Amino acid sequence: MSKKLTPREKDYSKWYNELVVEANLAENSAVRGCMVIKPYGYSIWEKMQAELDTKFKETGHENAYFPLFVPKSLFEAEEKNAEGFAKECAVVTHYRLKTDPEDKSKLIVDPEAKLEEELVVRPTSEAIIWNTYKGWIQSYRDLPIKINQWANVVRWEMRTRLFLRTSEFLWQEGHTAHATKAEALAETEQMNNIYANFAENFMAIPVIKGKKTESERFAGAEETYCIEALMQDGKALQAGTSHFLGQNFAKAFDVKFASKEGDLKHVWASSWGVSTRLMGALIMTHSDDKGLVLPPKLAPIQVVIVPIYKGEEQLNQISEVANKLVADLKAVGISVKFDNRDTHKPGWKFAQYELQGVPVRLALGPKDLEKGTVELARRDTLTKEFVERDAVVDKIQDLMVEIQEHLFDKAKAYRDNHITEVESFDEFKEVLKAKGGFIAAHWDGTPETEHKIKELTKATIRCIPFEGEQAEGKCVLTGEKSAQRVLFAKAY
Ligand code: AMP
Repeated sequence: MSKKLTPREKDYSKWYNELVVEANLAENSAVRGCMVIKPYGYSIWEKMQAELDTKFKETGHENAYFPLFVPKSLFEAEEKNAEGFAKECAVVTHYRLKTDPEDKSKLIVDPEAKLEEELVVRPTSEAIIWNTYKGWIQSYRDLPIKINQWANVVRWEMRTRLFLRTSEFLWQEGHTAHATKAEALAETEQMNNIYANFAENFMAIPVIKGKKTESERFAGAEETYCIEALMQDGKALQAGTSHFLGQNFAKAFDVKFASKEGDLKHVWASSWGVSTRLMGALIMTHSDDKGLVLPPKLAPIQVVIVPIYKGEEQLNQISEVANKLVADLKAVGISVKFDNRDTHKPGWKFAQYELQGVPVRLALGPKDLEKGTVELARRDTLTKEFVERDAVVDKIQDLMVEIQEHLFDKAKAYRDNHITEVESFDEFKEVLKAKGGFIAAHWDGTPETEHKIKELTKATIRCIPFEGEQAEGKCVLTGEKSAQRVLFAKAY
């Protein structure tokens, strides 16, 4: 039998780590803070990539690739960005190793192979990209530039956790250049909306759109828009960000264009990204004590068929029916696997597919052959029923939609139930302790108050939401005037 997971109630964090490993999604590697993404985990990431990539292209973006290394002098150019990322940079100082003269079995860094200029391993690519855009942009005819890159980045994180926060992670980063502020702002908003729609319609994760406060903003940005999700343990997770960079990078890299009227102006910019953290969001939103629960749109295998048989003859009879089902399901675009391995017992297979979150499981035994039925089990509700074989394909097509919706509705009900309005700081602390989730509270708009609340409660301002009521009030900590409620939470 496959291993039982620690229940969420008992130790949520342990449950998460066990699930990631047992469901064959990823594992820790020999490199601290860096993970190995296993084939099953990677195939889910590929589904996310494919959908996002389509959305980016539909909105006029093209993919390109820029170097992994950023010369330090370029990295320094935009001061705020450099300062913000400096403390988590990996830096290449040498380009060669040599045999240790004192121990021939060892290699040492060759002191003679020191780089003239150190190279920063990109924690994000604005610097190298804007240095490149300088050569691409002369006139208004060269704008806009709308490029996305799929890449890995390195941020030397101190506290890491599989998918949610790793030192090296996979992501996409969009970098756009525009003639006007309005266009760059519209792009920033559009991409945040694309992320929100993707999270909700594809991943079945409800998100709140908003903007970050100054202290949570991306280093070098004028505004950071974000989508925030709520995990089952009541902690928030930043699931995606879209930055309005103003003219900061254009000024740092001297990127100007001649306008229609002939004068030289600095270019306006945006950048936006989502990462393999989304895998963590997916797991922590839907999964249960039996393992991963996948929304059908993200499931690499949507239906698995498990034969229950004694002896080769029975298997042959079942296989005939199963193979027909496989063909019929494939014909309507459903990804299906017939697991006829005789190396594992049906019970083991059931547990394993439950662990791996396959949305629908069909079991076929000799009795089913006699009766013309199939046993159908839903992963999301853990319910089972017998279905007439002729009706199975239609039933599964309906279920794909129903499960997708059910997962979203369930997550949304939980999320909505965990947004609590509070009027005082005592109430703030009480709710945070007893219930967690988002706390909608008035804040006086100062970084000092934000910092003080963080110090006292560990909760941070996740975002200033764009939607919902925007009535004025009084700050829960200082009693000063507040323009609108903001959302606080403890976060990953
Ligand atoms: P940023 O460039 O900081 O706005 O981050 C872009 C995206 O990457 C956001 O969705 C972040 O939540 C995510 N992200 C940031 N740091 C990490 C990390 N260490 N591991 C995984 N994802 C990350």
